[in-house]
Amino acid sequence: MEQNQDSKFESAFLPMTSIGSGMGMAVLSDVFCYTNQIVNLALVGNQHEFVLIDTGMPKSADEITDMITEHFGEEARPSAIVLTHGHFDHVGSLVALLEKWRVPVYSHELEIPYLTGKQDYPPGDPGVDSGLVAKLSPMFPNHGINIGEQVKAFPQDGSIPHMPGWKWIHTPGHTPGHVSLFREQDRALIAGDAFVTVKQESLYKVLTQTQEISGPPRYYTTDWDAAYESVKTLEALKPEIAVTGHGIPMTGEDLRENLSYLTANFKEIAMPKNSRYTN
Ligand SMILES: [Zn+2]
Ligand SMILES: [Zn+2]
Repeated sequence: MEQNQDSKFESAFLPMTSIGSGMGMAVLSDVFCYTNQIVNLALVGNQHEFVLIDTGMPKSADEITDMITEHFGEEARPSAIVLTHGHFDHVGSLVALLEKWRVPVYSHELEIPYLTGKQDYPPGDPGVDSGLVAKLSPMFPNHGINIGEQVKAFPQDGSIPHMPGWKWIHTPGHTPGHVSLFREQDRALIAGDAFVTVKQESLYKVLTQTQEISGPPRYYTTDWDAAYESVKTLEALKPEIAVTGHGIPMTGEDLRENLSYLTANFKEIAMPKNSRYTN
């Protein structure tokens, strides 16, 4: 990790702790959603076997292990880490966590170049919105991290190791190898940043976690056609509960209505009017 990226991060980010920070929520008996500053991560499973979905912000490894200890006990460690995508707010503490646990990491094969130091994400696009988060986004680290051999591609059959009953679904657009996780049995969805339940461009709404369905965070999304297709794919699943990368989990009728509204009005709600990544 580069020194100047870190210090930039600190000045840009420490004040941006959302009111929900440090809060955990058991959304289902075996799905626990935890808010780390501005981003959500999840534990799926029980104390005997569980998987950590995404790894939060940089410098949060101790907070995450404390949270796991509190939830599953002193000896608890995940069987694997599953990544929805490799943006810095989802892999921020990955390297530090892997120093504590030698566990496999699973991601989509198209995301692996960003996790093995071969590729960087394009820089955040500050032109997409007038909000402060978008203005700050060029300062967000866009460097791919490098965890080498420890990252493996998901099995081709859609299954997810150590997560029986769950399937990964390729939902590109926000990033090339973005995935969402779905369990047919109870229609539980972990959507990553394919859509979110808080308008990420508005600092006020991020801080207060005002619930409002929104497309993928604009400043980072590079392929809006693919992002739209991905939202349609997820809407068609008719999820019963959704944990998103940012914002509070949404359920039931509220979720289905919001998702179909987002799908029907994607251009107006989700897509930026000016983006270096549209046209
Ligand atoms: Zn993202
Ligand atoms: Zn995110």
